[in-house]
Amino acid sequence: MTTFRIAALPGDGIGPEVTVEAMKALRAVEARLPLRFELEEFSVGAGEYLRGGDPLPTGVIECLQRFDAVLLGAMGLPDVRWPNGTEMAPQLDIRERLDLYAGHRPIRLYQERHTPLKGYRAGEIDFVIVREQTEGLFWSRKGTFSPDANDATDTLRITRPAAERVCRYAFELARKRRGLVTLVDKANVLPSMAFFRMIFREVASAYPDIRSECVYVDAAGLYLVQRPHTFDVIVTENMFGDILSDLAAALIGGMGMAPSGDIGERYGVFQPSHGSAPDIAGQGKANPVAMILSAALMLEWLGRPDALRAAALIHRAVETALADPGNGTPDLRGSLTTAEMGDRIANEIRSCELA
Ligand code: ATP
Repeated sequence: MTTFRIAALPGDGIGPEVTVEAMKALRAVEARLPLRFELEEFSVGAGEYLRGGDPLPTGVIECLQRFDAVLLGAMGLPDVRWPNGTEMAPQLDIRERLDLYAGHRPIRLYQERHTPLKGYRAGEIDFVIVREQTEGLFWSRKGTFSPDANDATDTLRITRPAAERVCRYAFELARKRRGLVTLVDKANVLPSMAFFRMIFREVASAYPDIRSECVYVDAAGLYLVQRPHTFDVIVTENMFGDILSDLAAALIGGMGMAPSGDIGERYGVFQPSHGSAPDIAGQGKANPVAMILSAALMLEWLGRPDALRAAALIHRAVETALADPGNGTPDLRGSLTTAEMGDRIANEIRSCELA
């Protein structure tokens, strides 16, 4: 029997609603495999700020470091802001403080009916965006502006060590997949991006078995819609990754279908790519699939044989549940609630065949 200690940070908006469904999926896994999950919850986010005055209470980061992995729902509320006008985003602080440099964002089409693109069948859109998460344009996020000034400036920072490690992550990942890495940049305009491209090419030269290419971010937006099947691993700067992740999610059914992992050398935090979706919070409309698939990604990252089997089991259960056109939340043009969708997937985990 293997036991994993998992910290759960449900957060704000739909975060708690989808986190409950991921926990349900993990409990169903326990019924099938010799695995146990010891789950402990922590209150972090805009709601915690309203209650206690700090969105990320002192000592929480140190506690998280004692767990095998962290599951995070979503954080931030539009009406709860810092004096500089930005939203509370403790998930970004967690990324920076635990040095979770690679935002690993799988984009996979589960059902033909979920994509707005014509002619794509299940599995034909299948790539991963690797988003650099410790610098880029987000490096300026704690800056400020003066209301009397005529301008405000943000800095896009690329450092050699951060660029090297995220590119290496992408090439290692491509080695386990179809062997192509695409750098998405704006090297024709910004010196920071020309620097990123230079480092990408240096790293690429250490992986002669992996194909590589460079695409400008504007063209990448076009190609992702025109020919998403040609991508395998995309590596990119923080802000570009943020924007392209949402575009890519739209290709497979929306934010409710896009899982993610924030991965560093030692720690991993797994959360859906989406935010707290205040427009649908509290209504039972959130699609829990992205969160459940994030739990599967966590199991893959944990990497022990039974954890890998558990991840495969969750993938199969999601696939089987979604094959039934009656199974879908409103974003997938279905009529199930968040909890009903979570139940269908948990039932599949309990009953579908083990590989
Ligand atoms: P953030 O900047 O924090 O990532 P965001 O501003 O990109 O957040 P989201 O909270 O991700 O916004 O929501 C974007 C859109 O996707 C909203 O219309 C929201 O309702 C929808 N959405 C997000 N997550 C889900 C989900 N799990 N199920 C259904 N719809 C969702």
